[in-house]
Amino acid sequence: MNLSRIPFGKPFIVGKELFYIAQAVMSSSIAGDGAYTRKCQQWLEEHLKARKVLLTHSCTGALEMAAILAGIGPGDEVIMPSFTFVSTANAFVLRGGVPVFVDIRLDTLNLDERLVESAITEKTKAIVAVHYAGQPCAMEALKALCRKHGLRLIEDAAQAILAQSDGQALGTIGDLGCLSFHETKNIISGEGGALLINDPELIDRAEVIWQKGTNRKAFFRGEVDKYTWVDIGSSFLPSELTAAFLYAQLEQARRINAHRRSLYDRYMDLLTPLVREEHFALPINPGEHPENGHIFYLVCRSEEKRDGLIDHLRSQGISAVFHYVPLHDSPAGMRFGRTAGGLPVTERVSRCLVRLPLYSEMTVEQVRRVCQEIGAFFTADAASPSPY
Ligand SMILES: *Cc1c(COP(=O)(O)O)cnc(C)c1O
Repeated sequence: MNLSRIPFGKPFIVGKELFYIAQAVMSSSIAGDGAYTRKCQQWLEEHLKARKVLLTHSCTGALEMAAILAGIGPGDEVIMPSFTFVSTANAFVLRGGVPVFVDIRLDTLNLDERLVESAITEKTKAIVAVHYAGQPCAMEALKALCRKHGLRLIEDAAQAILAQSDGQALGTIGDLGCLSFHETKNIISGEGGALLINDPELIDRAEVIWQKGTNRKAFFRGEVDKYTWVDIGSSFLPSELTAAFLYAQLEQARRINAHRRSLYDRYMDLLTPLVREEHFALPINPGEHPENGHIFYLVCRSEEKRDGLIDHLRSQGISAVFHYVPLHDSPAGMRFGRTAGGLPVTERVSRCLVRLPLYSEMTVEQVRRVCQEIGAFFTADAASPSPY
């Protein structure tokens, strides 16, 4: 039996990346907004049915653009989960906004839509829906709340490429959506991201912000006769080298997601018997929507069990990890944000969640070995005398 190490994750190279980069290098320019950038944007517009896509240097950059486009200024409140990556909050704090952290649902680990309305004040400007593990937030409910209270809906779809909610791609449902191509995600370019602009009224301004606050795009289209500074902005574009790499990945995106999804399904099949013995809880998929197999997690009964399981797996050469340290009780979260109500689910999940290895090159055999070790840990655990 091959007991080689099973890493937690591993960037997957599809094969054509260097070929496309070579083509970009041999073309006249490798700055941003060139041929490969346009190819990637078109691919995303077509496959996600997005109105307008701008490639960015990261999902963090796309979130920063979203904060500007949503008109967030000093004191404006933005409702979001605390169980998320720092960029979800930081992008708004950079504009002087105040993250208002609301608890998550135990089944999807997404924003609990039933708790959102009571967190809305006169200062609230936007809601950020983070689709954890590519699992959709309750978008209909969040959209209705935004309509009722005149708020912007922004999707942090960093983990959600090609995942859907009621037939619509995640990231294309709110006013703005943000994708990540960081090397830890399904489809990668080292660092990379995209802003999906679904409200047509935001498109022109998005292009200006993207191009350092200039009307460069309108100028090249011949719509204005001067190229000049017209608004705030920054350099949010990736270079053509990054876009060329990404294009090779996008061409294989559906295949990559399908394989990851099959690994995810295998984990589900093999671990379900242990759920019956109440050792841990598995993700609950409320609808039948094709997820993208980005993350596989389980939630242990206690922090001790969680740490014990991670240690046991490590001793067998398998690396599993946990996240997130909740933002609401991080030093910056306490300084810049506030909570609305208690966050008991967030706190429990962040203490008890384990992410299992899941990467594009992983095999079903490796999934089986991880599950065997999880079984061994809980069986040995059940056999030892209870401390109570
Ligand atoms: C990865 C991630 C980000 C940040 O993406 P980058 O491309 O690294 O900037 C933001 N939000 C969530 C939920 C993420 O998982």
